[in-house]
Amino acid sequence: MEEKRKMIKVYLAGELFKVPEGSTIMMALEYAGFQLKRGVGCREGYCGACGTVYREKGDYKLQGGLACQTVVTDGMAVAQIPFVPAEKPTYDLEDLTPDVNTFTELFPSVFRCVSCNTCTKACPQDIEVMDYIQAIIRGDIAKAADISFDCIRCGLCAMRCPAEIVQYDVATLARRLTGKYLSKKSPELDKRLEEMEAGKFDEEIKKLKNMPKDKLTKEYYNREIKIS
Ligand code: SF4
Ligand code: SF4
Repeated sequence: MEEKRKMIKVYLAGELFKVPEGSTIMMALEYAGFQLKRGVGCREGYCGACGTVYREKGDYKLQGGLACQTVVTDGMAVAQIPFVPAEKPTYDLEDLTPDVNTFTELFPSVFRCVSCNTCTKACPQDIEVMDYIQAIIRGDIAKAADISFDCIRCGLCAMRCPAEIVQYDVATLARRLTGKYLSKKSPELDKRLEEMEAGKFDEEIKKLKNMPKDKLTKEYYNREIKIS
């Protein structure tokens, strides 16, 4: 006989629902009948679209997490946030230099960092967010790019920053500058780009695009990852 799942109580957008224990916030929302059209993406913790705020029973603290990864607890109150507003300057990489002056001009907020480490504690990717902001202040752009490599741009760090720094946009610029100016050039990448332009992979891409979803999923998880 199928084991009956224990139900727990959660508040979703202010309303009380009973959902199966062990559900993620996203599963709980859908179990309760919400149709998610915004604030949902890959469902596996990679896209950063489902930043959510919640409060646990008896705890005054407002916490942040990814709805697809955070498991609900009894008495939890959840609020979906549509997006995190971001300071987003436009720039042309060709006009920029990979040094601190670029950040002084485009992201002056970075220099207001008070080293509180709140951003690091908020990060679901366990990234040392404060360290990459501090690396930028020291002018070590490559270091900032390296530390922030796994950032999924969920915005949870920026939401908590008392200095109103938009860390993930700062980090994106650090990685772009590093890729363009500071990283060693890769002859393999140049060769692969030439092959792509010559249409070497067109057939294979066409085949993948026409593949049924279950077969495509299998192929994806069985793919060979080459690390050199
Ligand atoms: S650094 Fe900020 S935006 Fe990036 S994953 Fe961590 S919390 Fe999300
Ligand atoms: S939360 Fe903001 S002020 Fe605090 S360490 Fe992070 S970047 Fe600096």
